[in-house]
Amino acid sequence: MKNMISVIVVIIFCCSILFTTGCKRGESKPAAGLQVVTTLFPLYDFARTIAGDKAQVTMLLPPGVEPHTFEPKPDDMIRISRAGLFIYTNRYMEPWAETVLKGVESRQLRVVNAGERVTYHAASNGADTDAHEEKGGDVHGHGHAGMDPHIWLDFANAAIMIDTILEGFVAADPANGNLYRKNAEGLKVRLVALDQRYRDGLASCTTRKLLHGGHYTFGYLARRYALEYHALSGISSDSEPSAARMTALIRDIKSSGTTYLFAEELLSPRLTETLAGEAGVQVLMLHGAHNLSRDDQTAGVSFFDLMDRNLERLQKGLQCRAK
Ligand SMILES: [Zn+2]
Repeated sequence: MKNMISVIVVIIFCCSILFTTGCKRGESKPAAGLQVVTTLFPLYDFARTIAGDKAQVTMLLPPGVEPHTFEPKPDDMIRISRAGLFIYTNRYMEPWAETVLKGVESRQLRVVNAGERVTYHAASNGADTDAHEEKGGDVHGHGHAGMDPHIWLDFANAAIMIDTILEGFVAADPANGNLYRKNAEGLKVRLVALDQRYRDGLASCTTRKLLHGGHYTFGYLARRYALEYHALSGISSDSEPSAARMTALIRDIKSSGTTYLFAEELLSPRLTETLAGEAGVQVLMLHGAHNLSRDDQTAGVSFFDLMDRNLERLQKGLQCRAK
């Protein structure tokens, strides 16, 4: 096994050498313009809008792949080492990023931690509220494992992330700085409008309890629009819900008088459907925007499309009256 790892490391090393000399198998020469590699969908969608036609933006996660357990493969390492800009969300979402980046041999690569200026909150599931918060994603020290990584679901955070991503673009390719700034400004104007649609759309609802049969994804969104968020499991989508948690959620559903339980995308809805059946309510899908399905990717769905789809479902599930 050790030998195998050594061979892989040597192959990666050789490939990066081959690339820097322009001889990578199957490609005659590197593509023109700034090459940008992003991890999750929101970063990809923001970066491709900022890029316009001046940079090529790709996403590391293949369509439909679960993001919390994703780790880059040797091919991904090569893609990162060939890029001019690598953008990740934060150290809670991509705990592999810091280690992987140490192993990437590249003189031109700039790294952007898009969440470095955002205020983080710990996951708090309904009654067991934890007011712990932390500024920036790069603070080292103790006890930060429980920070909620889904920062893009607070649209003010998304605007801060866009500013941080923009700085990376301008530093990597100053000649096109004005275009990048203009495109980033356009994105932030759209975010303000989206935020207003949420404020208006969720202002007057029969219930403010957002009951979610998935992992702890919508904490930031719930906080922003004063919803009470109860998720079935923890901040990673591979965390197993306990029997006690399931019982508690069924109790929450029954006591809230709601007729809907929200489910999450990209995971089997079976557990949520079982819970909804137990509680006698229907299932509505909410999208955390970590990644796209292949169908959504083919259809060219944007972050804003997903968020507007979520708003419609929230209004239905929480029985809100349009302002
Ligand atoms: Zn997640």
